[in-house]
Amino acid sequence: MHKVQENLERHTTELCLRIGSRHIGSPGEAAAANYIEQTFQEYGYPTFRESYPVTGWDFKSFEFYNLTRKRAVPTATACFFSNAVEIEGKLLWLKHKDLDRLAECSVSGRICMLECWSGEGHVQGRNQIAEKLDSLGAAAAIFISTTHTALAPSTKIQRSPFLQQLGTLAVSEEGAYDLAAHKDDLYRIAINATCFPHNSSNIIARRDGTGGKGVLGAHYDTAPLIQGAGDNATGTAMLLEMARLLKNEKPGLTLDFAAFSAEEYVPDTLPPGSEDYLKRHGKENLRWFMNFDDFGLLIGEPIVKIGYPEKLPGLQPVGIPFAPSNQCGDDKGFYLAGIPTIWYYDKSPFYQLHTAKDTIDRIDFEKMAFGVLDAVELFSQLEKIA
Ligand SMILES: [Zn+2]
Repeated sequence: MHKVQENLERHTTELCLRIGSRHIGSPGEAAAANYIEQTFQEYGYPTFRESYPVTGWDFKSFEFYNLTRKRAVPTATACFFSNAVEIEGKLLWLKHKDLDRLAECSVSGRICMLECWSGEGHVQGRNQIAEKLDSLGAAAAIFISTTHTALAPSTKIQRSPFLQQLGTLAVSEEGAYDLAAHKDDLYRIAINATCFPHNSSNIIARRDGTGGKGVLGAHYDTAPLIQGAGDNATGTAMLLEMARLLKNEKPGLTLDFAAFSAEEYVPDTLPPGSEDYLKRHGKENLRWFMNFDDFGLLIGEPIVKIGYPEKLPGLQPVGIPFAPSNQCGDDKGFYLAGIPTIWYYDKSPFYQLHTAKDTIDRIDFEKMAFGVLDAVELFSQLEKIA
């Protein structure tokens, strides 16, 4: 237990504090890929890199000032895929009724504040609003992030990779009220960032076996500009530790330990990393997929979400209770292909996901070790079922 916990803590610290944000196209994504590959190799595995095209985002800096009051706007961030923008001006405050008539709102060259985007509750609605404002020549769009913690905005509350010149920002509750209280002030926005064509890579370690393949996976990318501790440095660390612990198990199924990138990319289709894996390996008699994502929070109840339990007859919870699959993240593609899924997950009353509050000080390494040992036991049950 001690050694397991020590390794988990070391990997999580490396990913969160030495490497940092690992969004697609960032130096952190490349550094994490190298770290994962080296660790798999240290444990004695042959490793493979498999790449696929995505839109990368290069972020340099962000400023959002209230010039009238000579201070920064609180709880503000650039959004994923924002273009570069530098502008000073007053806010063009847009209400929900304006969304159907944006062409008449003289948005060209303006800083648009979307108060009522929440009528379009889903990210696709926000992406569409951004795309419309972009096509009308708006300079910047500010979105309110409410679905995440009130302390910090989600950096991917709007994430269209198709914007030509629009700069996009998000504020959470405090920032939104600050803007609302000072609607007529003069503001300055400066974002230095660009989108570019990029290849992300899955890093795969393989153990050869017979009778089909079991896949253990975790995504190592993050939402932009955050540590991504619970989402998903912890899952990546658990995957690495599973690889170490299962190295000397007696041979059974072929095993792929797959560290995916680009899970945080597109919401409505499949995440490109696991989708690419399934395109390449989906025909290899995949018996099950064990996923580690959003596990190890200091406050949270661990569960194991199971897809198609009827295809895993006799599988029994070890210490962590089973719950039904909800088909999202990297689980989704496997589930849609009819492959049983097993997802180590923490149910939390808080929602720091995709925000600057998803930090390593909110992680419970003892719980992570408990999760890994639980997964090792569940794995030996799976080997018997297979
Ligand atoms: Zn995640």
